[in-house]
Amino acid sequence: MKLTEIFKQKKLCLSFEVFPPKTDSVFDTVKTATEEIARLRPSFVSVTYGAGGGTSRYTLEIAKNINEKYGVPTLAHLTCISSTRETVRERIRAMQEAGIENVMALRGDLTPALESSDRSTWAYRHAVDLIADIKESGADFCIGGACYPEVHPESSNQAEDIRHLKEKVDAGCEFLTTQMFFDNNLLYNFLYKIREAGITVPIIPGVMPITNANQVKRAIALSGSFMPQRFKSLVDKFGSSPDAMKQAGIAYATDQIIDLYANGIQNVHVYSMNKPDVAEKIQANLSDILV
Ligand code: FAD
Repeated sequence: MKLTEIFKQKKLCLSFEVFPPKTDSVFDTVKTATEEIARLRPSFVSVTYGAGGGTSRYTLEIAKNINEKYGVPTLAHLTCISSTRETVRERIRAMQEAGIENVMALRGDLTPALESSDRSTWAYRHAVDLIADIKESGADFCIGGACYPEVHPESSNQAEDIRHLKEKVDAGCEFLTTQMFFDNNLLYNFLYKIREAGITVPIIPGVMPITNANQVKRAIALSGSFMPQRFKSLVDKFGSSPDAMKQAGIAYATDQIIDLYANGIQNVHVYSMNKPDVAEKIQANLSDILV
């Protein structure tokens, strides 16, 4: 099922994210975790694409398995920055053969090697080039893209970032999932600005439950997200007790999600990171809300 059909249903949606294994040896463990998440019957499951594309096969295998075995719609991520046009076309074909209907079209992060290489040799510079290529291929995918309530780290200002976001939507991107954020007001301000810029596609806020103290540094390094004092206090108080930190992190994410729904957001995506127990607890906390 295409995600745009789900978004049209006008009911509250909750989706989860899983990531593929890096090696064959952990494939079965990861597959089991993704199946446990699928058994929760979320609105959809997104499956990330390993940086550089090394795990592209696993992204497809996991997305196909969840869809076929559990009937849960899947969103397969695809990056382009280090790929040739032939490789991307080959991956588009493989997705079609696997019955994938939804693709998250991403640029991917710049590695130091890429940054020092000659940009004129790159087949793709930005996600918009991938979106245009998917459209040109004739593949009938529902295409999503990424957006950044706190501005993409490479953008010099938000107006420029939003201008490029509009180009992605104009090229065929039908919904946008946000980078994680820990202060909902940042999301509301962002929404106001993008709607004013004429971006009207569904926006799916991405919420990351922080369930251990080590994750905090990683999450900030990855996303550059602002950490509100309320969140920092929670980590200070509970960070050294794994069980307490997990419970507090799940409660914080739940609180963020309820506030988003209460303020008119229809679809929320949880960066559940192959943790079925975390996904299950968040879903249980919302059981009477997600009716
Ligand atoms: P783009 O949309 O290309 O934007 C990147 C930067 O370029 C921005 O600063 C933008 O303003 C600027 N820009 C865009 N178009 C132009 C233009 N025409 N001219 C000049 N500047 C322009 N990474 C993975 O490797 N695998 C994943 O599965 C994955 N999933 C993700 C899911 C979500 C929801 C998010 C938010 C990120 C994900 N990422 C993933 C990380 C993503 O690849 C990086 O954030 C990457 O740096 C940017 O990707 P993008 O698609 O947003 O790029």
